[in-house]
Amino acid sequence: MRIDVFTLFPGLVDGFCSDSLLGKARDNDLLDLRLHDPRDHTSDIHRTVDDAPFGGGAGMLMKPEPLFASVEAADPPRPLFLLGPGGRTFDQGMARELAELEGFSLLCGRYEGVDHRVRRHLVDDELSIGDVVLNGGEVAACLVVEAVVRLLPGAMGNAESPVTESFGASGLLEEPHFTRPADFRGWSVPDVLRSGDHARVARWRHAQALHRTIAARPDLIDARGGLTDDDRALLEEFPPHPYH
Ligand code: SAH
Repeated sequence: MRIDVFTLFPGLVDGFCSDSLLGKARDNDLLDLRLHDPRDHTSDIHRTVDDAPFGGGAGMLMKPEPLFASVEAADPPRPLFLLGPGGRTFDQGMARELAELEGFSLLCGRYEGVDHRVRRHLVDDELSIGDVVLNGGEVAACLVVEAVVRLLPGAMGNAESPVTESFGASGLLEEPHFTRPADFRGWSVPDVLRSGDHARVARWRHAQALHRTIAARPDLIDARGGLTDDDRALLEEFPPHPYH
């Protein structure tokens, strides 16, 4: 997958995407990450990329010329998304959609944002990572790249992980997990997980995922069409394991 990122701080994105599983994905040619600095497409000696807003007001805006020139020179894979707090909220469903593509691109804003002509005439859509305001789009870009690339076949150690984890095929949050030791400071692992009865373990896990999702994210239960009769039976069979 080719992902092009346009940013005034290519080192931030490159550094984040060089370690751990993302770094391996690049080494293995699963991910062809290309970074472009719009500052390389300025024509004045100060390499100016920002200017004051027409009409006055706080802060500076990214000028359109370097952004258009940088994108036009790179001819990046589309869709090209502007990162911005007003965009469509990025979520796991969208990560799955993007993971099906051969590539896509991200444009990071800085300052108070970008000249509106970039939004209207250069990019295809706008993505937000949630109702928070960052100093720039770089952290948002890293978030999108990581969420998408980990879904590519071969990018994760365990191919089942993206299916069984939160927001996976079941539409539920994950159940609680435990590893050794079986008893830690008097807090012990549920007996069922140590029983060796795999079918019962699977039923317990699904029941706990349901309990947790009902308590923490009832909207996810609604989104999957409510509870089935099997779900209700499981909820009765296994009481909720305490979450907090
Ligand atoms: N003045 C803007 C905020 C600019 S923040 C406003 O009030 O909406 C500077 C840059 O950070 C933005 O151009 C965008 O690229 C990035 N950014 C900030 N918050 C973001 C978010 N929630 N999601 C994606 N990008 C964000």
